[in-house]
Amino acid sequence: MKLDDKLYLVRFNTDKLNHIKIANPSVCLQQCQDKPCTRFCPAHVYDWDEEEKRIAVGYEGCLECGTCLIGCPFGNIDWKYPRGGFGVSWKNG
Ligand code: SF4
Ligand code: SF4
Repeated sequence: MKLDDKLYLVRFNTDKLNHIKIANPSVCLQQCQDKPCTRFCPAHVYDWDEEEKRIAVGYEGCLECGTCLIGCPFGNIDWKYPRGGFGVSWKNG
């Protein structure tokens, strides 16, 4: 089974309190040239919004892999697990 097919099986119960925040958006704009979060997240949660000049966070699709806790070179992602009963649930594993 291909990865995209496996991801299709994943179910989400979105925590509306939003468990991911960019701590300081100006760091993204002024200091982070490469914006690696737009590449390392397997769920493409982070996207650079050229119009708004900020990182847009599509937290609803977070797979809770934990990569962004270590991946942001500026420690600028405030990530917490969703509240109990919310977040991702895996089928077949
Ligand atoms: Fe901002 Fe961190 Fe993403 Fe860089 S990697 S754009 S500092 S959240
Ligand atoms: Fe993306 Fe993983 Fe971070 Fe969720 S925990 S936002 S899936 S890198």
